[in-house]
Amino acid sequence: MDTYGILAFPAHHSLSPVMHNAGFKALGIKASYDFFEISPEKLDDFFKTVRDKKIKGLSVSGPYKQAVIPFLDSVDIVGKKIGAVNTIYWDKGSLIGTNVDWIGVEKSLLEKTQIENKSVVILGAGGAARSAIYALHKNDAWPITILNRTLSRAKALAEEFNCEYGELDDFESYSPKIVIQATSAGLNRREGVEIVPKELLESNMVIMEMIYNPIETRIVRDAREVGATVITGERMLLHQGVAAFELWTSQKAPFSIMEEAINKNLR
Ligand code: NDP
Repeated sequence: MDTYGILAFPAHHSLSPVMHNAGFKALGIKASYDFFEISPEKLDDFFKTVRDKKIKGLSVSGPYKQAVIPFLDSVDIVGKKIGAVNTIYWDKGSLIGTNVDWIGVEKSLLEKTQIENKSVVILGAGGAARSAIYALHKNDAWPITILNRTLSRAKALAEEFNCEYGELDDFESYSPKIVIQATSAGLNRREGVEIVPKELLESNMVIMEMIYNPIETRIVRDAREVGATVITGERMLLHQGVAAFELWTSQKAPFSIMEEAINKNLR
């Protein structure tokens, strides 16, 4: 029986286990995908276990997308460019880090809109925003603006990736075709947190939310009310999960089964 899992702290809110276990079962793969909720002081010991027991693959979430890098044999070119690892796999005895979050961003957007030459505002300047910028550059979105609560982080990211930047309050100066909500504000908070006032959202915008817990965040509710095109956070989870599954198993992922497993468990 092979072991995979999600490494995060906390990890219990993740829907990756239901998604991947449904995929393994459907293909008759003898594997289990577990929660590895590991506190920072236990990370070192955890990676000894990964190597001793040859844990076959890991998804990585907050706060470890950069912290795992010293424990790996190498990080591939995509992981290096994005500057964060969200998937770990073995290749010829070496433990490798990569990042497939950008695939989640790209495919979720392409389900609803073209990306090329579209103006985009990204809310947030953390690891998830970095994967969004990578996907947007690959698909020739332009211009890309990063708005963040902490201006210095938006500026640093904008300089690294050649984007525009500002504070969240600057949103009213832009009228982007695509808005990507990549902050963690409102995560696990059903009452929601307002990042952009509803009056500034327009019906011709495509608004993508990355948070899937809860599924109806404040910006998702507001975007629906103004008649915008909405992409909810579980689409990114699904598409990046399918990419990781295929990397680990070298088999075509059972997309609809993994999709159904997520959708049945949304709150
Ligand atoms: P990081 O911790 O790296 O970044 C968090 C970002 O959120 C920062 O820009 C931070 O701003 C901003 N932020 C946090 N709280 C607030 C607040 N109250 N008001 C305004 N801004 C705030 O997290 P990640 O980039 O890794 O993840 C961001 C979100 O994306 C998370 O909620 C995560 O769950 C989700 N995600 C979803 C995925 C999916 O598959 N659906 C995949 C990856 C991430 P500041 O710089 O000022 O601190």
